[in-house]
Amino acid sequence: MSLTPGEREAGRAFRTRCQELLLQVPATAVCSPFTVWYRHECRDIDQGAGTWAMRLRQHYWLLPATEGAEEGLFAFIFRWGLCSRCGLRVRSGTGRFVIARDNPPEKGAIVAYQNRAVLAGKASDTPAS
Ligand SMILES: [Zn+2]
Repeated sequence: MSLTPGEREAGRAFRTRCQELLLQVPATAVCSPFTVWYRHECRDIDQGAGTWAMRLRQHYWLLPATEGAEEGLFAFIFRWGLCSRCGLRVRSGTGRFVIARDNPPEKGAIVAYQNRAVLAGKASDTPAS
């Protein structure tokens, strides 16, 4: 799809703002925005028991009402998770900037308009082995 100059400008500002907000999301480790299962050596596992994988939940922020572009036209997607065993917080180092209708949120995603997005701060997932 082709974007108008106003939409492009709104998209650039939205992406910049989301990336700034993303850096405020608490994290002790960062990963790719495509990482779904994050495997780590969990200090709470008995020595020799191997590693533990936790699922990172998708956060999906939509463009709020803005000048030059339709509300919800763009989305900024990242992942975040908290290990309930050792407290490790993992999030994407960057987000994916997409046209929302071509990239709908996955099932279980936390969807919010960027101006109302609550930054991840509590356990959102149950780790799985
Ligand atoms: Zn852990």
